[in-house]
Amino acid sequence: QAKRAGRGGVQFYRHALQDEAHARLQIEDGLRQAAERDELDLHYQPQFDAAERLIGAEALLRWQHPEMGQVPPDLFIPVAEETGLIHGVGNWVLEHALMQLSQWQAGNLQPPRLALNLSPWQLARPDFVDQFQARLRRHGVDGHALTLEVTESGLLRDLPDAITKLGALRRLGMRIALDDFGTGYSSLAYLRDLPVDELKIDKSFVKELLAGGDRTLIENIVDIARNMELDVIAEGVEHPEQREQLLALGCTRFQGFLFSAPLTHEQFVARLHRP
Ligand code: C2E
Ligand code: MG
Ligand code: MG
Ligand code: MG
Repeated sequence: QAKRAGRGGVQFYRHALQDEAHARLQIEDGLRQAAERDELDLHYQPQFDAAERLIGAEALLRWQHPEMGQVPPDLFIPVAEETGLIHGVGNWVLEHALMQLSQWQAGNLQPPRLALNLSPWQLARPDFVDQFQARLRRHGVDGHALTLEVTESGLLRDLPDAITKLGALRRLGMRIALDDFGTGYSSLAYLRDLPVDELKIDKSFVKELLAGGDRTLIENIVDIARNMELDVIAEGVEHPEQREQLLALGCTRFQGFLFSAPLTHEQFVARLHRP
């Protein structure tokens, strides 16, 4: 009896592994052709200050797979990174975002800074900065229109290289934001050396703010930001109570469902037209 159950367990486990392997293959295959099949899109999530003025937006990648439907980026970005497909996908994001920015500018829309998520694999390319500069020139977009979001853990693979490149991108006018701040290897020593403008408080800490959760981490992040003269923004703000607590702690920039979900291009343009 026990033996049979055990064997069933192994069977089940093997099936689960096969399913997972199959899903990964399906994602890898699909991702290879996603751009040319016109399945990729960018959504834009507005960011606000304490007076609820629009101060920027984050571009978030969306993938509509013909059979799997919307595949969440947390699922396909890691696959893209493991397979090297991140370069094609990342370039699609850069091209599309710059095309969109130049189009907004041509329509005389005063777009706030647009934040792009950057994979450490993209930054690691030796020619990344030169390519980026060429891209900006081609689209007639100024670096000041952009923020680049990178994660701490990604940068630590080759810190000196990241410092050099982020410094060069910053000299092109871009702001550098540390995404999901506090979830990785936070060390003040490396933070001091990094060319960074903004810390993004991870949504897991913002969640803690409900119902008397732990505030120490956010307090520390706001302190670090103040001491190092960095901006600080909270992501994943869903409830008014979180907004109030963040304000009390000294965080005055927000992104989250309380203010706006990520918007389609059309919705975002309508939002830009609103006073
Ligand atoms: P992220 O950069 O930390 O983006 C924030 C995520 O939080 C987004 O998930 C956003 O939709 C979600 N979010 C926004 N407001 C709220 C809220 O109030 N509550 C909750 N629970 N979530 C909220 P999304 O779009 O699924 O993206 C997940 C991650 O995928 C991103 O995390 C980012 O790491 C990655 N990603 C997205 N687009 C790109 C891209 O173009 N390139 C790269 N390399 N990574 C990307
Ligand atoms: Mg981000
Ligand atoms: Mg984040
Ligand atoms: Mg993330």
